Amino acid sequence: MSGDIKKVCVIGAGTMGAGIAAQVANAGVPVLLLDIVRDPENRNAVAEGAVAKMLKTDPAPFMSKAAAKLVETGNIEDDLGKVAECDWVVEAIIERLDIKQDLYAKLEAVRKDGTAVSSNTSTIPLAQLTDGRSDAFKRDFLITHFFNPPRYMRLIEIVSGPQSDKATVAKVTEFVDRKLGKTPVDAEDSPGFIANRIGTFWLQVATNSAVDMGVTVEEADAIAGKPMGVPKTGIFGLIDLVGIDLMPYLQKSLTGTLPKDDPYQAIARSEPLIEKMIAEGYTGRKGKGGFYRLNREGGQKVKEAIDLKTGEYAPAAKPPRIPGAAAKGDLGALIELKGKIGEYAWAILGPTLSYSASIVPEATATILGVDDAMKLGYNWKAGPFEMIDKIGPAKLRSKLAESGLPVPELLEKVGEGTFYRVENGKRQYFGLDGQYHDVERADGVLLLEDIKLNSEPLLKNASAALWDVGDGIACLEFTGKMNALDTDVMKLIGDAIPLVAEKYKGLVVYNEGSNFSAGANLGLAIFAVNIAAWSEIEKLIKGGQDAYKALKYAPFPVIGAPSGLALGGGCEVLLNSDAVQAHAESYIGLVECGVGLIPGWGGCGEMIERWRDMPRQPQGPMPAVAKAFEIISTATVAKSAAEAKQYGFLRASDGVTMNRDRLLSDAKAKALELADGYTPPEPPEFRLPGPAGMAALQLAIDGFRARGLATEYDEVVSGRLGKVLTGGDTDPTEVMTEEELLELERTEFMQLVRDPRTQARIEHMLETGKPLRN
Ligand code: NAD
Repeated sequence: MSGDIKKVCVIGAGTMGAGIAAQVANAGVPVLLLDIVRDPENRNAVAEGAVAKMLKTDPAPFMSKAAAKLVETGNIEDDLGKVAECDWVVEAIIERLDIKQDLYAKLEAVRKDGTAVSSNTSTIPLAQLTDGRSDAFKRDFLITHFFNPPRYMRLIEIVSGPQSDKATVAKVTEFVDRKLGKTPVDAEDSPGFIANRIGTFWLQVATNSAVDMGVTVEEADAIAGKPMGVPKTGIFGLIDLVGIDLMPYLQKSLTGTLPKDDPYQAIARSEPLIEKMIAEGYTGRKGKGGFYRLNREGGQKVKEAIDLKTGEYAPAAKPPRIPGAAAKGDLGALIELKGKIGEYAWAILGPTLSYSASIVPEATATILGVDDAMKLGYNWKAGPFEMIDKIGPAKLRSKLAESGLPVPELLEKVGEGTFYRVENGKRQYFGLDGQYHDVERADGVLLLEDIKLNSEPLLKNASAALWDVGDGIACLEFTGKMNALDTDVMKLIGDAIPLVAEKYKGLVVYNEGSNFSAGANLGLAIFAVNIAAWSEIEKLIKGGQDAYKALKYAPFPVIGAPSGLALGGGCEVLLNSDAVQAHAESYIGLVECGVGLIPGWGGCGEMIERWRDMPRQPQGPMPAVAKAFEIISTATVAKSAAEAKQYGFLRASDGVTMNRDRLLSDAKAKALELADGYTPPEPPEFRLPGPAGMAALQLAIDGFRARGLATEYDEVVSGRLGKVLTGGDTDPTEVMTEEELLELERTEFMQLVRDPRTQARIEHMLETGKPLRN
């Protein structure tokens, strides 16, 4: 059904409209982007400027340069008629009812019947938006509330009106889910919908309490950030990020539209300090600074925080240490802590959780809508009801009553139970009817998280597991910290292959961590270096090469299914797969050179093969080698699956899934598709350029060094990489086998790992997370 939308028009090329248009283009769907005429000389200047700006924005709204070409720009005076060619029109213009209504009147005259029209409004009720429009227009109208930035935020709130046609709403919902990769959450036509209603309440209560209780900005963010499962920006860091001037705006909108007895009305207040900051241009990161600022006086960069009482800046203080379990997400322990930490945590959580529980069903039909909205729209690790379960509903009730805070009906209703439970291997939620209901997944959504509730792993050790994901497909999951790769992972691969060969049709390599894998476990590597356990390191390298080649030549198809970072060894597992089904937000790269190493698990040969097979690649041994060298020596990381295809980390034929939750199902389908009549690949034969090729690469390295782009040690590392890629002392007329190339890769790797300058790079990376340019 999402295929019914073949062309989209976005009106309003501001922050949101431009970002939404980019995401439509990222999905490979043509999009027309319109704005007002501001410059009579160049009537499309606004939309054109928006596209040009996005091509320079970081993080990038476009997944590839090719996507940007799918955006056609125009203006509403000359091009509104083109709406007739579109199947969905998204309005994302300035938040003014009169201007939106005026635009809809014009749209009504040009759109064809059945073309969906949706507004990205944050605050205006649907009923007011469509006032005065025909019944036909009302049938095709809905609200699609995206979050900023549209490419990266997964939430979209969908609001339909009493007259909205179910088929139209379903068509748009399916498109935003499958094509734009968003998770649609149904919201009622109530003020602020779900996420911003709770989010604004939460930020307000946290700001009020910090001022009233004498909690500093740094303390507030340390308490209300990580320990609560909230991004580390916490409260004030987040307000700085979204813009301090947004706060009074949201406040005004919510106090103006929420009923007078809504608990938000009692806490909304203006803060003289915040008003002063906005007036003076301290609007956060986009302005001169905010609650935090970087003081660059005297040529240094000092992070400063504002004093909420005096409005003076001082160097940011070290945040307080949160003790024990409270630091690790035990909310019950956090709110019981004596003193400022526990009291401030409760001052936020008590009212926020009570408020969240009170807006069901007014803002959304079930508790799932509330939890999904906060997890996907505000990046909370747990939604409000999941947080309540962590504390315990009964405990929360008594603490709320003790503090004189309202105990919502739903919280009473759940009694001694919890809002979620697992029954017969299925996750269930507590409904308004007092009964538990299964958490249903949309068609085509398959999650390992669910599979784990009703099955045991086929194999498991400390760093990996193997699961049966149905229909004859097994799934290899990395489970270590950051999904790092180590000997346990390689051992599990070794054990999995005969098992899958005997009982299954194919294997998917997939996990639900935020990153597929950040590569080899460097902590372990440096430990081995420190005790000079060279043979252990060599064993890890050889073991990894063997395991990955065993995957490559297994008698069944292997599908890599990454999402997030797939670096180093995480990238090499993909290079050794028969095919990849990648989440669009996959960031793939061979980054070993950054830590003074080279790919050691077959990445060198695989990259040569990839470039050799690339269409329109010049013939001969050198071009593919030069390309692989350029990409690996600069530790290039592709910033999307689309970019990964350009770098050769993925093949043109590899699949891309826009919605994270659909990745496993799509990867499984790909495995089944290849399983029929599957034969493993033939080992490649390499004809490499040898010393002459190395001399050419050396010229390039010297050039980089001369221009100050490479350090002294970069030259050494690149030299060893060049030696592997050119085949060492091979002769271009001779054939080099894959085994021989792997041996060369191993030898050069071992030379580098023994070098103290590599060790310094690894240690620096582990300590700071950043590369050392020695
Ligand atoms: P913005 O100010 O960045 O952009 C608004 C754009 O609308 C401007 O380019 C302006 O030229 C254009 N415009 C004004 N009148 C127009 C008209 N008659 N026809 C065509 N274009 C017109 O605003 P924004 O932040 O992108 O917000 C747009 C909409 O999205 C608003 O309804 C807002 O409430 C909503 N929203 C914003 C955010 C956010 O975080 N910024 C998040 C969700 C929803």
